[in-house]
Amino acid sequence: MSKFVIALDQGTTSSRALLINAQGEVQGVAQQAFEQHFPQPGWVEHDPFDILGSQIGVLRQLMDEQGIGAQDVAALGITNQRETTVVWDARTGLPFGNAIVWQCRRTASIVEELCSAPDVHGRIIATTGLVPDAYFSASKIKWILDNVEGAREAADAGFARFGTVDTWLIYNLTGGAVHATDHTNASRTMLFDIHAGVWDEWLCNLFDVPLSMLPDVRPSAADFGKTAISIPALALSEGCPCSIAAAQQSIFESIPANIPICGVAGDQQAALFGHLATHPGEAKNTYGTGCFLLMHTGEQAIASRNNLVTTIAASAPNTPALEYALEGSVFMAGALIQWLRDELHLIESASETEALATSVPDSAGVYVVPAFTGLGAPYWDASARGAIYGLTRGAGRAHVVRACLEALAFQVADLVAAMEDDCGQHLETLAVDGGACKNNFLMQFQADILDSTIERPANVEATAFGAAYLAGLFCGFWEDIEQIRKLHAIEAEFSPTMETARRRELLAGWADCISRTKSNKE
Ligand code: ADP
Repeated sequence: MSKFVIALDQGTTSSRALLINAQGEVQGVAQQAFEQHFPQPGWVEHDPFDILGSQIGVLRQLMDEQGIGAQDVAALGITNQRETTVVWDARTGLPFGNAIVWQCRRTASIVEELCSAPDVHGRIIATTGLVPDAYFSASKIKWILDNVEGAREAADAGFARFGTVDTWLIYNLTGGAVHATDHTNASRTMLFDIHAGVWDEWLCNLFDVPLSMLPDVRPSAADFGKTAISIPALALSEGCPCSIAAAQQSIFESIPANIPICGVAGDQQAALFGHLATHPGEAKNTYGTGCFLLMHTGEQAIASRNNLVTTIAASAPNTPALEYALEGSVFMAGALIQWLRDELHLIESASETEALATSVPDSAGVYVVPAFTGLGAPYWDASARGAIYGLTRGAGRAHVVRACLEALAFQVADLVAAMEDDCGQHLETLAVDGGACKNNFLMQFQADILDSTIERPANVEATAFGAAYLAGLFCGFWEDIEQIRKLHAIEAEFSPTMETARRRELLAGWADCISRTKSNKE
């Protein structure tokens, strides 16, 4: 009987592997950062072999350090940075250039050109649940086919393969046997019909992407094959392929063989599942550099009136129909705290902010609107810029720091209000994770301003756990989700205690500051 499930967490800046036992405890973690490439302003790339090498490297390292073999591992679950795009040649296993990362803006003009007509714009939203943007994979695939030598010919001849990062990993880990993705990742490509659950031919034509290069789409808990010993490029490219450094070759030949891969989800949907938020109205927010808020909406794909995106949620095995979530993000969350530290030098570390914030009874009327790169959902004003309001002679460092933490909570409250409006339902409980959820002041203020309970689980590795739970449920490592619920301890609960009048006053102050910050004041 295998004793563990391993989660592979392939993030934007690092790859991680987590060893998880049947009690749902982390037994070991290995992590490796990899290089970011910025070939031009606004462009962001990863070398696909860096993604792969770091991911296989941490898997190997974890198993070696823990002294376990493939027979000890019931299954692998994969969670990944979403939208990032790799195109490769099935004849050689070699990519057509670097992966184009989700943050990369190089295809903004393609999206502008192809998606601006109102009927096209509307049809894309209706089909994919996404507001057309260069983030999503469609325009990135087109860019590679149109700009990298040999890519279009290979695609026309049926040899090119597209994958988001999960697919690239699965393809290589299975020795080229499986070219597949899951519903959650497919729903971020802007080529997938999230209602019918199939690739959309009209969209593929719009972006000039042949259907033959797209992966098979499976549920998040499904059979994605078994690990093989080595990656395809080593076998197919006769000797050391030029783009694989010789020093890395041994890593690519060190995959522990015969482990089933049976859980796959994009990072945010994996986190929602990792919080066991699997019923309509349940939501999670990740407080990282930015915030990602997802609310489960059950079998109903809710079209947002507030420019939020509709996405497919990860489902437990044997769920009869597709399930959905509404998603919104905040650009400046933890990044605002980094700014306090690195630019204003008001703090030396993020953890100081809690004591500073509670050293004063309130922010003394100071509000920080962190529109550094514009106002995001639900305002969508790209030209707005940040501002600090309400300064008086008595305002000091603690007030400004407190106002920054409050700004995180106000931005999340704006997203929640948009979701509540879309769903017609008040948010009762919000599950949290990410670096800044450690801040007790922030969590209490968030509970107060939302008038919702905040639940912080003992284990805040929600993303990795989501992948592990999906894989473990599919292979029978855990019987059902109810068994997992019993393992899922809540470390702290923050209940709203603020008087309604005070909450309304604070929210009205924030709304006033937002309207003063907008570039296009009505
Ligand atoms: P990411 O995964 O986006 O890199 P993390 O989840 O690791 O982010 O969270 C790191 C972010 O959280 C940083 O931006 C940091 O400023 C912020 N942060 C960490 N600890 C605290 C804290 N105690 N209070 C407020 N913010 C914090």
